[in-house]
Amino acid sequence: MIFGNKVIEKPLRWAMVGGGYGSQIGYIHRSAALRDFNFELLAGAFDVDPQKGKEFGVQMHVDSDRCYPDYKTMFAEDVKRPDGIQAVSIATPNGTHYEICKAALEAGLHVVCEKPLCFTSTEAEELAALADKNNKVIGITYGYSGHQMIEQAREMVADGALGEIRIINMQFAHGFHNVAVEANTASTKWRVDPKIAGPSYVLGDIGTHPLYLSEVIAPNLKIKRLMCSRQSFVKSRAPLEDNAYTIMEYDTGAVGTVWSCAVDAGSMHGQKIRIIGEKASLEWWDEHPNQLRYEVQNKPAQVLERGMGYLAPQAIAEDRIGAGHPEGLFEAWANLYRRFAMAMVAKDNKQETDFWYPDVKAGMEGVRWVENCVRSADDGGIWIDYK
Ligand code: NAD
Repeated sequence: MIFGNKVIEKPLRWAMVGGGYGSQIGYIHRSAALRDFNFELLAGAFDVDPQKGKEFGVQMHVDSDRCYPDYKTMFAEDVKRPDGIQAVSIATPNGTHYEICKAALEAGLHVVCEKPLCFTSTEAEELAALADKNNKVIGITYGYSGHQMIEQAREMVADGALGEIRIINMQFAHGFHNVAVEANTASTKWRVDPKIAGPSYVLGDIGTHPLYLSEVIAPNLKIKRLMCSRQSFVKSRAPLEDNAYTIMEYDTGAVGTVWSCAVDAGSMHGQKIRIIGEKASLEWWDEHPNQLRYEVQNKPAQVLERGMGYLAPQAIAEDRIGAGHPEGLFEAWANLYRRFAMAMVAKDNKQETDFWYPDVKAGMEGVRWVENCVRSADDGGIWIDYK
């Protein structure tokens, strides 16, 4: 249980790029980072509009002289201060992640980067090599993976509760973009513009979330081949897709599917993962994140509840309130930011860590998966070897 106990000696001096007023994801970054006093927000280039960014930073009690007009000025100036920033979170649209992340690493900063880390595997490898050379952490905000019941599923798979894994069915299928909402919504407009969003819309925007959950829960499965079909039901979104199906074969003989969809009319979030083994299955749905269904063949189904003593120790270690009280996405993100902070300090002290978190490899894998899906889909929805 987390009681607010110290896990690092001093809060990391932290900044944000993007995540400004009205952005979708900025607030949860701040809420997660500041929750356990492992970070303190001291600087930022919060908005593409410098004036708006400054006004917003001042609202958050950041000194006005540390509300910078852009990330380049911040990285050049702030790190020179005796109390200069040590870490930065990047919460800007996709097309800027690569250059901002690279600049941050070159400035000697640890990074938390939004997904997708970048657009190509070559860029991802370059960022990973740079982080390694400069002894820095890159954390990726696959926020759902911070839910406690994902940890429970991981432990149960490792303990053999399901037997050998045969099938993983995944989906992130919401209905919010069933019509061209981008005409009136800036944060959807860039998502369907390949220059800013990258080579995909829903595959990269939402499909990589359950994909990463599968990597956490069943880390031994490696994709061998895949086939993807993608569609733009709202025609103006082409060449970017608002629906996609991906079928994957793993090196163990298991198979998996990911349904990525923004036009699933009537669905709220629709992010689910079902892991099917030879003797039992697990199922988790992000709209009920405190529960995990465990279904053993020929036995009544069980619903495992967050916070209960029957769970694996790792699945109750980051509880913040007792069982029965709902924890949510804010807590899941806070769990990840806590691990990011511990990983950053361990890096600085050249110590090994014994916990997982969505790291640069997770970011690389997401980029690689999208790249492969797009290659398969654009070649006519054919099976391709996973590169
Ligand atoms: P948004 O359009 O709502 O907000 C983007 C913010 O970035 C705005 O404040 C904008 O002014 C600022 N910005 C843009 N360019 C900038 C620059 N060069 N310098 C400084 N600030 C800049 O976008 P969003 O929906 O918040 O998405 C941002 C990123 O977060 C995207 O990469 C998206 O994929 C990701 N995201 C992740 C999750 C998740 O669950 N991890 C959820 C939503 C969004």
